[in-house]
Amino acid sequence: MRVVIVGASGRMGLAITRAALEMGDVMFVGAIDREGAAAVGRDLGELAGLPAIGTRVTTDLAAVLTDAQVVIDFSSASATRGNLTICAHAGVPIVVGTTGLDADVYSAADAAAQHIPVLIAANTSLGVTLLLELVRQAARSLPADFDIEVVEAHHRHKQDAPSGTALALGQAASEGRGTAFRRDAVRHHAEGGARPVGEIGYAVVRGGDVVGDHTVAFLGAGERVLLSHQATDRAIFARGALRAAKFLFEQVPGRYEMGDVISLKTKT
Ligand code: NAD
Repeated sequence: MRVVIVGASGRMGLAITRAALEMGDVMFVGAIDREGAAAVGRDLGELAGLPAIGTRVTTDLAAVLTDAQVVIDFSSASATRGNLTICAHAGVPIVVGTTGLDADVYSAADAAAQHIPVLIAANTSLGVTLLLELVRQAARSLPADFDIEVVEAHHRHKQDAPSGTALALGQAASEGRGTAFRRDAVRHHAEGGARPVGEIGYAVVRGGDVVGDHTVAFLGAGERVLLSHQATDRAIFARGALRAAKFLFEQVPGRYEMGDVISLKTKT
């Protein structure tokens, strides 16, 4: 598989590089980072702490797409919108793992998906793909007087909050409960007052080197159900992103998600 990685020198870009070079059947035909990044001009393999692979980090995505079969984007929300358009013009499928995306990016994804396969996943791990299904099912099964709260913790460098995974879990809970998805119920308690009935709330912890912890709490009278996932190694996201890329470049144009890549036994 011939891949271009965008956000090449970031934590995830390098985790994907290491996982790909371990797998052995992935060739990087491009490695893109932002203008001015220290990694520009350096060899991707060496950046990942491995032997050189002859692919240097550059900044022009369109220029490296000629030979590419799929693009994997783990960069920044501001970059992803343009990357979707560039990939659509070049006819190259794209896996987007970048989070913090706004409605404009999702519109750009829908437009791009007319021409190419587009997979957006805030979390490419097997565990969270399962957790989304479990949360949807729990929200469907439990009565509406169980309050739902999503609690997440990440490392101190994370830019967006709540995490894309927390929002995806909130969306899965909304779908299960049959209510409209809202992303704005982040708990500060600065405003005081009781918890609004029926709200799906988010609580955010930032610090240290936490790779990613998520718990969806279903809080009832006299009992609570906690569904949790803890990531301890970015390799889980990297392997999932590569699996998604392998799936995607054989698909017809359209929008895809991790549930399409990983067939879970919960689905009957
Ligand atoms: P990071 O800050 O370590 O890396 C981001 C990289 O993108 C950096 O090298 C940065 O220079 C580069 N970049 C920024 N703007 C760019 C642009 N305009 N063009 C090209 N490159 C650009 O961050 P990270 O921890 O690697 O995470 C990257 C993204 O992936 C974040 O949005 C994060 O939330 C998300 N993420 C997703 C998953 C998942 O499973 N989908 C898992 C972990 C992180």
